[in-house]
Amino acid sequence: MLGDRFKQHAGAGKPRPRKWRGAVLTALGTSGVAILGTLAGIFQLLECATLDRYFQLRPPEPPDPRIVLVTIDEDDITKVGRWPLPDLVLAKLLLSVRSQQPRLIGLHLYRDVPVEPGYAALTEVLRTTPNLIAMEKLIGDSVAPPPVLEELNGVDRVALADMVLDPDGKVRRGLISVKPNNGNLRYTFAAALALHYLEASGINAHTDEDRPWSVRIGRATPLEPLQASDGGYVRIDDGGYQLLLNYRGTRQAFHHISMTDVLADKVPPGLMHDRIVIIGPVAASLKELYNTPYSQRSQQSYTQMSSLEIHANLTSQILSAALDGRQVFHFLSNPLEWLWILTWASSGMAIGWYWWHTSQFRSYTSPGWCLLGVYTVLACGSPLVLGYIAFLNGWWIPSVSPVAAALGSIVVVAAQKTHGLQRMATSDGLTQVANRRYFDAYLHRTWGLSLRKRKAISLILCDVDFFKPYNDTYGHPAGDRCLQQIAWAISQAVRRSDLVARYGGEEFAIVLPETHLDDAIKVAQRVREQVSALKIEHTASPMAHVTLSCGVTSIVPHGHLSVHDLVKAADCALYAAKKEGRNTYCVCKSWVGR
Ligand code: GH3
Ligand code: MG
Ligand code: MG
Repeated sequence: MLGDRFKQHAGAGKPRPRKWRGAVLTALGTSGVAILGTLAGIFQLLECATLDRYFQLRPPEPPDPRIVLVTIDEDDITKVGRWPLPDLVLAKLLLSVRSQQPRLIGLHLYRDVPVEPGYAALTEVLRTTPNLIAMEKLIGDSVAPPPVLEELNGVDRVALADMVLDPDGKVRRGLISVKPNNGNLRYTFAAALALHYLEASGINAHTDEDRPWSVRIGRATPLEPLQASDGGYVRIDDGGYQLLLNYRGTRQAFHHISMTDVLADKVPPGLMHDRIVIIGPVAASLKELYNTPYSQRSQQSYTQMSSLEIHANLTSQILSAALDGRQVFHFLSNPLEWLWILTWASSGMAIGWYWWHTSQFRSYTSPGWCLLGVYTVLACGSPLVLGYIAFLNGWWIPSVSPVAAALGSIVVVAAQKTHGLQRMATSDGLTQVANRRYFDAYLHRTWGLSLRKRKAISLILCDVDFFKPYNDTYGHPAGDRCLQQIAWAISQAVRRSDLVARYGGEEFAIVLPETHLDDAIKVAQRVREQVSALKIEHTASPMAHVTLSCGVTSIVPHGHLSVHDLVKAADCALYAAKKEGRNTYCVCKSWVGR
């Protein structure tokens, strides 16, 4: 009921919670919700999408000087006229690449069965190329390696092509190694190429005894495996040894040459010398394409990346970390993430409060809401900008949950303040019961409802007896405190559905919707008793303590009466109560329609 909203505020004499306590609760509440949201994973997709944006925004890096891709695209397949490539073509291609004296050759193609003609020739090339690493697939639908390599030295010459996908189907993580249940540690294709290359440069990976998962390699800061809830991830499958892929870029980030050009001996001099050459398909028709952070719906040309390019990125990531000290990603611990979110919830709260307090002293024409908009954009934009700066420095920190926390705080503060404004406009400043403006509006509304429903409405007007003498005896401040106590006592005596309002100086009104006279009289009696029970000393009154006189009236409204008649009747009854000697109630039943 509308009358309810003023009940809990009546009695201004009680201590009110300090303002800062509300502010702290707001910040804690919104950050708590944001943290719970994070733990529940509702921000994961957005955090990942923000990370993608950071990758796209990052200025392009120069091509990796250690890697060359030999790509097999639609044109190459058309020229050969067959897929899978006949073994003879592949053998020729490998011989051509081998003649360029690369340090390593990565064969990013499954060759588990013969594709005649030329199987014997290919087998011979594979057997006699010790710096070649081929691939097999282990997880899910497995694909066997080329038989000849497995016979030679399966673990060293064959690596795993397996990849891990994020819940949204994108490749943001790179798999370094896996340890099958009943087998030895196996490296993935990209990791094997990088580690062999580094080994040839005299750089070996090693671990500390007390931190066996932390891998030191060359100039790289120690590599640590990705955990299930690192960065924006929430409980992802972190099996094996995974890294967050620090993409160098799309195909443009690598030196590349087409298979046709290699077969036609058009390799620029020195292109492949002492480098890692990775041979593999990039043709869209082979369905070997994946979504990555660079995938964009609008730009058809780079919507997806071939598995060849993804592996090249991971190889490049390990090489450039070890040789150039290029960043690998770091993550905040959970408590630090929560602190980060709390910081932004607090700043959102501070912005809301600052806006509110400064806007009170601005003229009505100043664009206060626009200013709040600017503050809000700043509060929400800052975590995203800081997240990007952190990203450029090798950190993936949450950006979306801090924005949610800051925005939540601003909304909560604005809602609290707007609610406070509404209260100020409708309640009496001294006694905290409804003010006259609210009383008038409420009475009209209730009268209209009663008229429609043909229900009774009652009104009680109360006036403090001998209040002028009270002020004269005890002073105005004591009079104010007395009025506050009386308002509180009246509020305690009425039902939840009744509205108590300050009608005038020391007069109060009680509106009782859907209430007949008998019940209204009971309320009036209770109100009077409750005020007497306060036992506020009043030596200038014959009763020796503060008392109340009440005028009660009740009617089922009809067309010939108005709300003014109701008030007039209650006023009449109050006058009668005063005449009867005060500290009592009177009832008015004689209605004079207009
Ligand atoms: P009666 O019993 O006939 O009602 O006598 P009364 O003295 O209560 O009535 P009167 O109308 O003569 O005086 C009302 C007094 O209420 C006068 C005014 O100073 C006092 N008053 C009105 N509003 C306030 C207020 O907000 N604070 C204080 N302290 N006094 C108030
Ligand atoms: Mg009066
Ligand atoms: Mg009075």
